[in-house]
Amino acid sequence: MTDLEFSERPLPWLLPSYERVVEMFRHGRLPHALLIEGGEGIGKRSLALMLSAFVLCERNQLQDMPCGQCKHCALFKNGSHGGFKEIRRGEKDSVIKIDAIRSLSDFAAGTSYLGGYKVVLVNPAEDMNISAANALLKTLEEPSASTFIILISHSGGRLLPTIRSRCQSLTVGMPTPEVVVPWLVNSSENDESDVRRAVAITSGSPLSALTLLENNSLERLDCMLADLSQVLKRAVPLSEVAEKWAKDELKDYLLWLSQLAHQLAAYAMTNDETLIVHSDAKKLFSYLAQRCSYMQLVDLYALCFSQLSAAKSSNNPNPVLTCERALSGWLALMLKSSQRA
Ligand SMILES: [Zn+2]
Repeated sequence: MTDLEFSERPLPWLLPSYERVVEMFRHGRLPHALLIEGGEGIGKRSLALMLSAFVLCERNQLQDMPCGQCKHCALFKNGSHGGFKEIRRGEKDSVIKIDAIRSLSDFAAGTSYLGGYKVVLVNPAEDMNISAANALLKTLEEPSASTFIILISHSGGRLLPTIRSRCQSLTVGMPTPEVVVPWLVNSSENDESDVRRAVAITSGSPLSALTLLENNSLERLDCMLADLSQVLKRAVPLSEVAEKWAKDELKDYLLWLSQLAHQLAAYAMTNDETLIVHSDAKKLFSYLAQRCSYMQLVDLYALCFSQLSAAKSSNNPNPVLTCERALSGWLALMLKSSQRA
């Protein structure tokens, strides 16, 4: 199986967006370039793949979903459709470079594949560096009739306005828990209380919650919360916990620390206790949130998030130091709050 496998139907919350584009196609109004915008873990790539497969499918005049059976669908699924190209940054690169976009432009300018459409996916578009973005702009300015370009963006604000203005925007909103929870219970075979915890910690992002459930990460998350509590109570040295976390999937811990800081900031702003989703650690986190200002918690979030970005980058920062920096931010805030109490 390649990672170009598409499902029979779009994810339930993406169906209206999918149908909108199919409708444009039916009326001969398929845009030259479509910008799919929305939060991470919402399924934008799966939507883009289904739309690509649909546009290329031999039977798209007869049905609204890619048939999955015709020659085009088969080639698409096994990653060898000559009319489809996905541009992503290389594993060791931090950006999409100009060479990748030049290959896209050559592909777009070339003849059509088996007489049909050619589809290009840029994922995510904000990964393009400035010269790559300018090269793409040229392709967008000189559209070729049979090419459909899809840009995916987690944060459309980071795109050049000139690129945005040449694309039709399709914004995908975060689905509500009423939609996500039953879908996750069904897809992950976990019970509802675990599903709700996973949804809460991932701020409602359905695919991130699914990954959390499938990797049995809830248990690790509980351990992380217990460790953090111990550090904040100064029962265990910060360096000991940093050493322990650095040996495991460090990015998970940094992501959870960021999400937790984000939730505490929301709590400090609204006083809505349901925003603190970890019932075991509720007392400690309420204590902290009540004694810190919203801005202090936002700074804590920014600190944890910057350590997460550093851990994801190709610079290979020292994992123990990265953990220590994030944990120091938490501890410093705790010490300030207890002085104030
Ligand atoms: Zn087909």
